[in-house]
Amino acid sequence: MADGQAMDEVVTFTSELIRIDTTNRGGGDCQERPAAEYAAARLAEAGLEPVLLERTRGRTNVVARIEGTDPAADALLLHGHLDVVPAEARDWSVHPFSGEIRDGVVWGRGAVDMKNMDAMILAIARSWAREGVRPRRDIVVAFTADEEASAEDGSGFLADEHPGLFAGCTEGVSESGAFTFHDGGGRQIYPIAAGERGTGWLRLTARGRAGHGSKVNKENAVTRLAAAIARVGAHEWPLRLTPTVRAALTELAVLYGIEPDLTDVDRLLEKLGPAAKLVEATVRNSANPTMLDAGYKVNVIPGEAVAHVDGRYLPGGEDEFRTTLDLLTGPDVDWEFHHREVALQAPVDSPTYARMRAAVEEFAPEGHVVPYCMSGGTDAKQFSRLGITGYGFTPLKLPEGFDYQALFHGVDERVPVEALHFGVRVLDRFLRTA
Ligand SMILES: [Zn+2]
Repeated sequence: MADGQAMDEVVTFTSELIRIDTTNRGGGDCQERPAAEYAAARLAEAGLEPVLLERTRGRTNVVARIEGTDPAADALLLHGHLDVVPAEARDWSVHPFSGEIRDGVVWGRGAVDMKNMDAMILAIARSWAREGVRPRRDIVVAFTADEEASAEDGSGFLADEHPGLFAGCTEGVSESGAFTFHDGGGRQIYPIAAGERGTGWLRLTARGRAGHGSKVNKENAVTRLAAAIARVGAHEWPLRLTPTVRAALTELAVLYGIEPDLTDVDRLLEKLGPAAKLVEATVRNSANPTMLDAGYKVNVIPGEAVAHVDGRYLPGGEDEFRTTLDLLTGPDVDWEFHHREVALQAPVDSPTYARMRAAVEEFAPEGHVVPYCMSGGTDAKQFSRLGITGYGFTPLKLPEGFDYQALFHGVDERVPVEALHFGVRVLDRFLRTA
């Protein structure tokens, strides 16, 4: 069991990491180095030998290995990103980079995404050093840069340029799982992420015949583009159940005493009420038009019109996604991936999943653990190139009224001290048994 010092340190570290402003505005505008040095120093104090790695100056990653007792066992990757999304101070009740601790709550950008987890990892590694605890498997700890943008200076760089640091790692654990989801009717659900949809950010280009706005023009690029994105936006994607979502729906149905009828999933989702939120975005692919760009004067028909679409596809759903986009956009509109990331699927019948589940159940006996698939993505996508299966497991016990998913990238991001303590206990238990 993690000691009292670990409980103090997780709070201090969360607060101090928040105070190190690592805002990632994209386009390379971010400096993780001070946060990386902070994390590396805390690990070095615990007798570990962290290495700092940069592809770009100031975009620093930290990797360290905790040696396990069984050299034949596969290693486990434990990773957290150091960067955060921007925060507009005037919208907040507390300055987003103050790390203020008020009424038992730590406030600031990164409090749940994901300096909380970074702090838990540091606090646990240090408590193990004090107690002489060694895990069974090697545990590779990685703190990454650039997760909130392209990951090119972070996990992508580590996977491509430093695969040796991750030798032996078969599974990874990181953000967005095992938080309390309150269903509004008194039930507490702890979803553990075992999959991620893939990302397909698309650029659609319609070409046509440029000309005067007063003339007949059947090859108008704006008309062509508008028709194509209307079809894309209105498309009803067919239901596709991945193993994780299938397990999630079945377990939720059992929890609510509903017939787990997977032949009529829309009906089942309706019956699940608020808990449907955990699965509804991951039962099908999606494609939402988000940006439009065409023309420069009202009486001039432009020769080209461009739109962007935020597409997401399920594990195993990429081919169907591509074929469908070809059909929806039609012959007059080209589309391409402006940015593409793979979808991930992790098994929910693995010993590792069972150990995560058991750790949550031990400290939250009133909770119900279910697997879920993330609608978006994390660094686990990059690490999957090394054959590492990723799970989302950042345990947090949150009181009712704390909407975890709304705090993610939201205003007044904050985390209760109690939630951090729970996180340390559960993560520590899982890692000791992993
Ligand atoms: Zn994150």
